[in-house]
Amino acid sequence: MSTAFDVINPATEEVVASVPGADAAETDAIIAKAAKAFESWRQVAPGDRARLLRRFAAVVDDHIDELAQLEVRNSGHTIGNARWEAGNVRDVLNYYAGAPERLFGKQIPVGGGIDVTFKEPLGVVGIIVPWNFPMPIAGWGFGPALAAGNTVVLKPAELTPLSAVRLGELALEAGIPEGVFNVITGKGSIVGARFVEHPAVRKVVFTGSTDVGKGVMRGCADQVKRVTLELGGKSANIVFADSDLEKAAASAPYGVFDNAGQDCCARSRILVQRSVFDKFMALLEPAVKGVRVEDPNLATAEMGPLISRKQFDSVAAYVPADANVAFRGEIPSGPGYWFPATVLIASGADDRAWREEIFGPVVSVLPFEDEADAIRLANDSEYGLSGSIWTRDVARAFRVARGVDSGNLSINSHSSVRYWTPFGGFKQSGLGRELGPDALDAFTETKNVFLTTD
Ligand code: NAD
Repeated sequence: MSTAFDVINPATEEVVASVPGADAAETDAIIAKAAKAFESWRQVAPGDRARLLRRFAAVVDDHIDELAQLEVRNSGHTIGNARWEAGNVRDVLNYYAGAPERLFGKQIPVGGGIDVTFKEPLGVVGIIVPWNFPMPIAGWGFGPALAAGNTVVLKPAELTPLSAVRLGELALEAGIPEGVFNVITGKGSIVGARFVEHPAVRKVVFTGSTDVGKGVMRGCADQVKRVTLELGGKSANIVFADSDLEKAAASAPYGVFDNAGQDCCARSRILVQRSVFDKFMALLEPAVKGVRVEDPNLATAEMGPLISRKQFDSVAAYVPADANVAFRGEIPSGPGYWFPATVLIASGADDRAWREEIFGPVVSVLPFEDEADAIRLANDSEYGLSGSIWTRDVARAFRVARGVDSGNLSINSHSSVRYWTPFGGFKQSGLGRELGPDALDAFTETKNVFLTTD
């Protein structure tokens, strides 16, 4: 039987909704519905599937403001970010709407006949989403999954279910057939676990913490179930002495404090070449203090609160009373899980705040000597998701980019995830890639068919 749970606005601590939490039997019923819908969805002609996805994108576009407001209320995201996030769902749907009509196989030259390959859909795809970017992360899964002919069961995080539930309604409004795209709310240990255990779910796309991701991978191994994992990060922002130091310092806060640092790509380790360390810190201080932390409904807001009291306590534990704080920003008074933008001087590469993913607005800074030292320090991490390199030397920029073990690097910027390009992690930051032109491969099986002409 369902048990409802409250959804809280992290900027006000008010309860904004109550959402049902499905039990295992209800989860199984939704999976069965998705499995049934798969039989007909896979048969929909490519052009019709493309049209339906474009219509879904158009309906999302008509509801950008409503979806963004929901995210501000549920997740404390700034309104500017939340609009971008809803727009990202639309853009991803439009991008993958081009895929059904281009899901090419190959014709391979062989003797004695004709050999062709087909990209077959997998069946039901289970998508498990964390609370930090509820809309985009859901869309990166369901856009290509649906385009490839799969049906989807989507579980948003317990803390942030509202935008996903609304997207489920909008899909139906757009004409996506019943049972093709299903949103089910509930606990990870119940609903998410059923996605892993249920044999009708043929693939799990999991985004979340590295520990839970390892459990999902272990569970999927039992059925050799396909799995994509997008996990944690502790990305390096490497600033060389020959860079545009003003620009590097001015942008560094936005490379880590966006979404209050609750971003798997946060550049939460700043490595600065020793010869310019003091100058960089002097430039960084006004940049950090200038980040506008305020009511996320305001168009000027650049950073909102943390998602929950639990997250607040977890982040605060990294800044004890005796922490080596270089400087901090301001926060609003009153209710809400506000945490100031905080810059720590790391004592070394063993520092806990330097090594562990904090998932809050806390960044550590450490000097390095030369290029080799920078690469060594950047790679001294179990993670490898993103990172930035600041230098005016183009050859060095590419040498360092090739040297850093990370899935997504940007040179002289802190680029966010782009849906045209692959996204995913090295090492314990994940397994597989999302987005980009090859995402359909992760939602299809290659079938080889030989026809004899003898
Ligand atoms: P989490 O691992 O606690 O939860 C993620 C999702 O998994 C939630 O929907 C949760 O309900 C579900 N879940 C929990 N236990 C489960 C289980 N036993 N079986 C199946 N599902 C289960 O993570 P979180 O706290 O929601 O999110 C923060 C983490 O996500 C951070 O570590 C962050 O780095 C990571 N993250 C990674 C990326 C990326 O793309 N690499 C993106 C965003 C967040």
